[in-house]
Amino acid sequence: MSIYNNYINGEWVPSETGQLFESKNPANVNEVVGVVQKSNENDVNKAFESAKEAQKKWARLSGPARGELLLKASNILESRLDDIALTMTKEMGKTLPEAKGETARGVAILRYYAGEGSRSIGDNIPSSDADALMITTRVPLGVVGVITPWNFPVAIPIWKMAPALVYGNTVVLKPAIETAVTAAKVVECFHEAGFPPGVINLITGSGAVIGDAMVENEHINAVTFTGSNTVGKHIGRKAFDRGVKYQLEMGGKNPVIVADDADLKLAVEATISGGLRSTGQKCTATSRVIVHEAVYSQFKELLLEEVAKITVGDGAESNIWMGPCANESQLNTVLSYIEIGKEEGATLLYGGNKVEKGGYFVEPTVFEGVLPTMRIAREEIFGPVLALMKVSSMEEAITLANDSDFGLSASIFTTNIQKMLEFIREMDAGLIRINSESAGVELQAPFGGMKQSSSHSREQGRAAIEFFTSIKTVFVK
Ligand code: NAP
Repeated sequence: MSIYNNYINGEWVPSETGQLFESKNPANVNEVVGVVQKSNENDVNKAFESAKEAQKKWARLSGPARGELLLKASNILESRLDDIALTMTKEMGKTLPEAKGETARGVAILRYYAGEGSRSIGDNIPSSDADALMITTRVPLGVVGVITPWNFPVAIPIWKMAPALVYGNTVVLKPAIETAVTAAKVVECFHEAGFPPGVINLITGSGAVIGDAMVENEHINAVTFTGSNTVGKHIGRKAFDRGVKYQLEMGGKNPVIVADDADLKLAVEATISGGLRSTGQKCTATSRVIVHEAVYSQFKELLLEEVAKITVGDGAESNIWMGPCANESQLNTVLSYIEIGKEEGATLLYGGNKVEKGGYFVEPTVFEGVLPTMRIAREEIFGPVLALMKVSSMEEAITLANDSDFGLSASIFTTNIQKMLEFIREMDAGLIRINSESAGVELQAPFGGMKQSSSHSREQGRAAIEFFTSIKTVFVK
């Protein structure tokens, strides 16, 4: 079994604590996937010093040259796709095809931002003085702390690190401890691509132990975080107090509306895929299913027929559609929300039980009769639980869909253009999906939410430049 070290100043070094964390397979709790460092504040400080030291020189390298290194990293990642995807499946449970798809996305994100190194970073603004030149240019922020969750252990670190790096920042990555082996394998690709020492640093350890040390470090200029609302708000407050720029991508309680004129087969397929793939552990996962009464019975029948076909088990096996919850506490959270749903008076239509297969498995679960006041309609469960709600009009559907603290992603299934336009206009969500599942956005498009889902900046695509750079306005006469 391999031991993975921290990566500081271009070298793989153990934590000074001497303490290790065993990353285990949630589909087979006796299998140790790898061992990582449990770091402390001193390790964090060393990583930030190295990032600080490297940053000025890195920023002086040309954009195209920085892009070239990202391209090299993408080729190495692509050559290791199978191994990294299998590690991901073993660390957090998503099925192998999903893990391969995510790793391929990591490759594509790196290539997108490799090209970004050669694109414009400023505007030429006409001055009222005909003899003057007025332009904007963008400069890096400096050292960026990157804190990521376990649910997309390749794509999320890459979609934060790639733009940070290409625009001239250096980074300190702290992945979720449960997927730190996957993160180390990603960082190995950057190392072998030839990034200069200190440009990328990896620190593994518990967020509760080293998170504050990151945000409070004297060299940090910005922090980009994806994870839960509780931790995100904590980081946001600390960063604000210290004048550190912050970006927070947090939870969702994403609705799907099925209108009376919807293609029901498509709506069912998309609800299942959007809600239950990755065991419902996506921030954009469908959780509230708001169905017009005219098609409710038919939709429900079709949905239950399809949910019953779902195979639950080890995602590394080819016949499995849904893997385990990523860890024991996640499984317990899901089971406790199922109990809460029953106690609150919702009707359990399907599932609701643990699956005894040696891992953290739970059945896909469907409730009906869910009221907007119930906790299972309001709180993020982050598991394979769908809440059906019946409505009698489009207006009621949109009001219900908007009745949430979150505003990440929302879908509608309809064949009527006016309903589509109304949904685009009225729905409070950063990602609006028409006849398409709530989960999943192409990497070149802006990603982020409204309300408590996000700190309102956007990740991915060209939009990332807004967070990872500062604008300088230049007047020359
Ligand atoms: P989490 O518990 O908030 O953890 C996220 C990261 O924060 C981990 O690296 C964690 O480290 C670290 N952390 C924990 N406490 C910290 C602290 N006090 N200071 C700094 N960092 C700290 O979230 P999760 O359970 O991994 O992920 C699930 C959540 O992520 C869900 O709420 C989901 O909706 C959200 N998510 C959002 C998006 C989006 O783009 N909107 C995408 C994916 C997931 P340790 O793991 O080492 O404790």
